Amino acid sequence: MRLKLAIQKSGRLNQDSMQLLKECGIDISNGVNQLKADASNFPIEVFFLRDDDIPQYVQDGVADIGFVGENVVYEKAKKVEVAYALGFGKCRLSFAIQKGEEFTGPQFLAGKKIATSYPVLVQQYLDQHQIKAEIHEISGSVEIAPGIGLADVVCDLVSSGSTLFMNGLKEAATILNSQAVLIKRNNLPAELVPILERLLFRMESVKKAKKHKYVLMNAPNAQLDKIIEVLPGMKSPTIVPLATAGWSSVHTVIEEADFWNLIEQLKTLGAEGILVVPIEKMIL
Ligand code: ATP
Ligand code: ZN
Repeated sequence: MRLKLAIQKSGRLNQDSMQLLKECGIDISNGVNQLKADASNFPIEVFFLRDDDIPQYVQDGVADIGFVGENVVYEKAKKVEVAYALGFGKCRLSFAIQKGEEFTGPQFLAGKKIATSYPVLVQQYLDQHQIKAEIHEISGSVEIAPGIGLADVVCDLVSSGSTLFMNGLKEAATILNSQAVLIKRNNLPAELVPILERLLFRMESVKKAKKHKYVLMNAPNAQLDKIIEVLPGMKSPTIVPLATAGWSSVHTVIEEADFWNLIEQLKTLGAEGILVVPIEKMIL
């Protein structure tokens, strides 16, 4: 039995999806230009599809799981389960208005023509705020709609905002913060559950490793207590005596988030020769 995984064939999610599989030690280097490929070292089969089609394939059980943006999952509203946040493909689904205008809140949208590829999510937002507006569904290049007189407002995916800016628009309100997620079909056959669990375990180890760094430093023994106190660490740090009397080498794992603060404290406390090393996998 193989677990069938659907990923985007080409586009913004393709590379990160392939990279994640690679970091999980899953080798699908053969046949990436075809419709599907078998992993050589893991019971998984990868289907390459348009992202819009992935929720449908997973609902129907043609694929067991898929990697796809939350924006697509919620817009398509298929019967699938969001099982894991993948941490890439981050973007926002936002309303954008002409640069010169002032957004006064949801009421601003009343009676406006809104161009979007996300009619379901936009309608939900309008209903929530009890606003009536006209939705024009278009499938691509939504940002040019106001410029050609097709709409007053757009609702589209944004990451940096530079596409909007180049088209004389500015971001006004966000409907959804999105990232790529792993979706799974309802009633996944029992024999596939352990394979999915193995995959999730590997993805979690990769994710944790990315958030952490391995740190090594030399410290005067007289300062060790104070240094150990500021180190978070998985358990307690490893302390190894150096050949030079009165000095030790201290090893520990720290979170990327509080990295610089901690390094500054360590230097103040007398640590020297601080090395920061990336961690490839982290199994807890
Ligand atoms: P396909 O040919 O598979 O239908 P597409 O043109 O619909 O591709 P892409 O532009 O490749 O889709 O985007 C795929 C997904 O990448 C989006 O649905 C979204 O989840 C995510 N994404 C991340 N950042 C952005 C962004 N700035 N603009 C658009 N999508 C983004
Ligand atoms: Zn698409």
